[in-house]
Amino acid sequence: MKLIYCRSCGDIRALRAESEARCFCGASGGHYRSDGVHADIAGPCVPLGVANMSFEAALAAPPREDGRGNSFEAFVITEPCETIHRPADP
Ligand SMILES: [Zn+2]
Repeated sequence: MKLIYCRSCGDIRALRAESEARCFCGASGGHYRSDGVHADIAGPCVPLGVANMSFEAALAAPPREDGRGNSFEAFVITEPCETIHRPADP
């Protein structure tokens, strides 16, 4: 799962193929392409990734004994990246 973090307003939005995701301040936005893998983003944003299997496992697992929620893996996507496209890219 890809998301964008807007450096201007601090908003984090998940990207979707069906519609453009826009941050709170409107400076950053993006969407998945129809292949569901590549994404177009624009503005002062940083692309983020959530490891889907890690996330699904955290949702499915019972709560930890200490009462804290389960962790999952997320990471900053380093640009340039072949699945992230900016307006100047083909
Ligand atoms: Zn913003």
